[in-house]
Amino acid sequence: MSDNERTVQYTCLKCGYKNSWTRDEILQRGQEVIYRGENEVIYSLRCKNPKGCDQRMRIAIARQEH
Ligand SMILES: [Zn+2]
Repeated sequence: MSDNERTVQYTCLKCGYKNSWTRDEILQRGQEVIYRGENEVIYSLRCKNPKGCDQRMRIAIARQEH
């Protein structure tokens, strides 16, 4: 049971592209914007549309426990 396998999916509000992010991708490529409490971080993710899109989406993910 690995949380790392979980995928976040959303549709870009600007171009309609369906984005799919694994947790690892979010940690590597996302930009941390807000810490919400001890267990959650908001990441700002840029749309993956290969044609180019500058829309960003904010996604909350749980912090990894160590
Ligand atoms: Zn987009």
